[in-house]
Amino acid sequence: MPKFRKIVILGYPSVGKSSLALQFIRGNFCEDYEPTIENTFNKTFKIGEDEFQMTVVDTAGQDEYSLLPPAFVLGIHGYVVVYSVASQKSFIIAKSIFSKLQDRRGKCLMPIVLVGNKTDLPPHSREVQVEEGQKLADAWGAAFMESSAKDPEKSSIIFTKIIEEIDRVERSFGED
Ligand code: GDP
Repeated sequence: MPKFRKIVILGYPSVGKSSLALQFIRGNFCEDYEPTIENTFNKTFKIGEDEFQMTVVDTAGQDEYSLLPPAFVLGIHGYVVVYSVASQKSFIIAKSIFSKLQDRRGKCLMPIVLVGNKTDLPPHSREVQVEEGQKLADAWGAAFMESSAKDPEKSSIIFTKIIEEIDRVERSFGED
């Protein structure tokens, strides 16, 4: 029996949420995907012997004024929070998204993978250092990685990681 996992991708507009989702679901990078709409994708995904039926909600994006609708909170197993390493603003919005999630979900552990995307851009465009991303994820108790949506392997590691985080958090509850 596959395990059902519902994931929401959050982050400032244009950081690459849809590109990462599409890279994972379809295995390609699409330059001209319509970014403004919300989309839900389904994919069966195997990690070792375990099969997962994944539903991935690709949101239109959040800014400092966004409220998280109940659909992003109820029945959600985990979150992928994306910023662009070339945008300090998007990193600040990632922090605000986390505090809104905490407000809505309470202080209990939330499976999250924080992703610094667009690492393929030239080094001079980098505005957020890898250490800053790691430090923020550590403060959240979340997993962290940098990625490029042009890299199929990186995109699938993100979704493997979120599944692992969900299992880790579930197990830690089981031990209480
Ligand atoms: P979203 O609004 O967060 O869903 O962002 P999109 O996936 O629509 O991407 C916004 C723009 O950034 C598009 O032009 C993408 O082609 C581009 N993009 C997304 N991910 C990457 C990446 O990893 N590297 C580069 N260079 N461009 C990217």
